[in-house]
Amino acid sequence: MGTKAGGCLFRIGYTLYARTRIGYYYHQKDITKAKEKYGDDGHTQITHFDYGNLRIVPIPMVSDNYAYLVQDRKNNKSVIVDPGHATPVQKVLTQMDVQPDAILVTHKHWDHSGGNREMKQAFPQVPVYGSATDSVPDITRRLSDGDKIEFGDLRFQILSTPGHTVGHIVYILDGSVFGTEDSLFSGDCLFLGGCGRMFEAPSSVMLSSLDKLAGLDGSTKLWPGHEYAVDNLEFAHHIDPENGRVQDKLEWTKDKRENKQCTCPSTIEEERAYNPFMRTSEESILRSLGIVQDG
Ligand SMILES: [Zn+2]
Repeated sequence: MGTKAGGCLFRIGYTLYARTRIGYYYHQKDITKAKEKYGDDGHTQITHFDYGNLRIVPIPMVSDNYAYLVQDRKNNKSVIVDPGHATPVQKVLTQMDVQPDAILVTHKHWDHSGGNREMKQAFPQVPVYGSATDSVPDITRRLSDGDKIEFGDLRFQILSTPGHTVGHIVYILDGSVFGTEDSLFSGDCLFLGGCGRMFEAPSSVMLSSLDKLAGLDGSTKLWPGHEYAVDNLEFAHHIDPENGRVQDKLEWTKDKRENKQCTCPSTIEEERAYNPFMRTSEESILRSLGIVQDG
């Protein structure tokens, strides 16, 4: 993709994927491929994370995506984040005997929004929230930076984080009412040890979105849109080989993944310590990337 022609073909291909039902067709093929590889149970074992009355369940889907069930168990309210595929979400909802009160989508890509239509058919009263500026398919409520939404004790603040897509947003759940830390549902902006590809904005825009997230309270838990921890930390180790925090987390994530366990949640404090995209002001990172020279 180094040539102008390659870049142009990529742009056309990307636009077809992101903006049309052709992308949906390829998304369905990815779902079929993942099913052949992992069977019905998906790429990761399902685990419940309980913090007082707050329950968060990462739902594995497609080849490495996570949707999330976020539940206020006291008031029996719950939301689904990023239902890229409706079937695994509906399976978890049935097993837990839960009806969703809302669907929250971080951005338009099919692996995050491809289940919206089916979820709407199954739960016609349920609002589907998404960015006002991201052309997310099948949304019914449009969100912008700074908006707040709540369902029982589930209180979310919306932050605009453009870069991966032009209108990408993240959702920050207030943990205080549950006696726990806040939770960040970061979609494809920030991952454990890495960040999303910059499809729709220059890197400066993505970096300022990442800086915004790096500025959140260090205790904030990170729940990203993909299980990319091992690959990301291997890259981080490559460019930041002296960093003990990278090595420790890499060993830990490898153990987890050998047993198909989820690597979520990390925290913003951890990400600041080992995620190279949150450490672009560190000299060791700049040296590894060849931006500054030794001596
Ligand atoms: Zn994406």
